[in-house]
Amino acid sequence: MAENTTNAVMFHSTRSNSKTYTSKQAIRRGIAEDGGLFVTDCLGETRYNISNIVGKSYKQIAKDVLQILLPDFTSSELDECVENAYGDQWEDCEVTPLKQLGTNNDFVLELFHGPTCAFKDVALQILPQFIRCSKNASDSSQNVMILTATSGDTGKAALAGFANVEGTSMVTFYPEGKVSKIQELQMTTQSGSNVKVCAVRGNFDDTQSSVKQIFTNDSINESIKNNNNALLSSANSINIGRLIPQVVYYFYAYSKLVERGSIKLGDEVEFCVPSGNFGNILAGYYAKMLGLPVKHLIVASNSNNVLFDFLVSGTYNKIRPFHQTVAPSMDILVSSNLERMLYYMCNKDTRLLQMLMNDLQQWGAFEVPEDVLSKIRELFGCGWANEDQIRDSIKECWNKHNYVIDPHTACGYFVMSHIPHDSSVPRVLLSTASPYKFPRVVCESLGLNVEGLDDFACMDLLERKTSTNAPKMLSELKNKTARFNDVINVEDMPDYVLKCANEIC
Ligand SMILES: *Cc1c(COP(=O)(O)O)cnc(C)c1O
Repeated sequence: MAENTTNAVMFHSTRSNSKTYTSKQAIRRGIAEDGGLFVTDCLGETRYNISNIVGKSYKQIAKDVLQILLPDFTSSELDECVENAYGDQWEDCEVTPLKQLGTNNDFVLELFHGPTCAFKDVALQILPQFIRCSKNASDSSQNVMILTATSGDTGKAALAGFANVEGTSMVTFYPEGKVSKIQELQMTTQSGSNVKVCAVRGNFDDTQSSVKQIFTNDSINESIKNNNNALLSSANSINIGRLIPQVVYYFYAYSKLVERGSIKLGDEVEFCVPSGNFGNILAGYYAKMLGLPVKHLIVASNSNNVLFDFLVSGTYNKIRPFHQTVAPSMDILVSSNLERMLYYMCNKDTRLLQMLMNDLQQWGAFEVPEDVLSKIRELFGCGWANEDQIRDSIKECWNKHNYVIDPHTACGYFVMSHIPHDSSVPRVLLSTASPYKFPRVVCESLGLNVEGLDDFACMDLLERKTSTNAPKMLSELKNKTARFNDVINVEDMPDYVLKCANEIC
């Protein structure tokens, strides 16, 4: 599709519309130059016709949705991306199966059947495919080298997606001794000739700061460009290439609800989403803009309840204590993707967004106008669970429904159980991780004795006591040997990146 036809979908920053980009360019860049997030003003102009959604496979729905949101990809490019991303590496051929929770109108959408057993696989299996396709069509023909610092989960999900994808390579750093044994094995056993994994002597913040410095280090960027024909990039969750694939499963869940007769086509449904960076739930908002009948989107948080406070008061204040919780992937104080929702709720006013984000940077807080807050609150509900409530919810869900949930999903379960709602409207809880990723907390919550057990023994115990099976991807790790065993100091990270570029780009 021509890039400059009048109806082309173009992306620009949430903070300015002076420069525009095709979706391929926006995916390669990740974040706008002014620090804003890429958005398109065409969102919602083309709607998804749900009238014949029933019976479609996950892949078919994915192709339909992606073609609307990423129109500068050809249909054959999208076909190939979808086929590569949602194939045999998923333990369930439905990709994101919908299960009923008990006998009432509540459901769970399981997003954790991918290679790393958490929901980030849905996006990170396809993002590398998008990057592969966007080479040449973009302003350069460079390969992309992804750098990440990880506290455990995202790094592995990205590794699994980028491994052996042509035109890409990836280096991931993690803080030595600060990730779980299972997480470490997940990373250090990763296959693929284009990936590297390295432990760093330091904590996560040191590792992350150093990666950020490498991204803005001109001499490293120049060297990798000139010597390796590659561009440094991140697989950050603000990339539209991570956001857009998540819109698909909202439509998929809806098609399954119609198929099983729980609703008629056109009836409204609600989604409850364990949230951190606001990416997953934002995709639900996009689905609504594309025409999905969504009545409410419920944001579930843990003790880092900055989103809850914002949705209640209209003030977003990141100056607050940071809590380490049993749902670590939601331990976030700045929910970056919120900026996109605000852009649309503020009538696409880039000046206002620039002011709000400036306030956040300068004062650590911003406040949205009253009318914007009430518009947001019409659609978004919210709640949060503390540590005890998370553990109690895991136990309650097991006792009531014979269904084991992980601590992140448990935040959503708790909020769903306590928020008032119209029982004729079905509700879908998005389950973001397999309980087997957090076997110790889950066993403890169920009242099982884990004293002296390692994480693999906790998995075995959980299997026996609940008659469920650990995903093979996790249980098999026990017998695998690490491919990567480098450990370096923080100050040696820049040189390490240059060395890797020579080896894997
Ligand atoms: C990343 C993550 C979340 C939070 O999702 P956001 O898109 O950041 O809101 C929730 N649960 C799990 C298991 C995750 O990995």
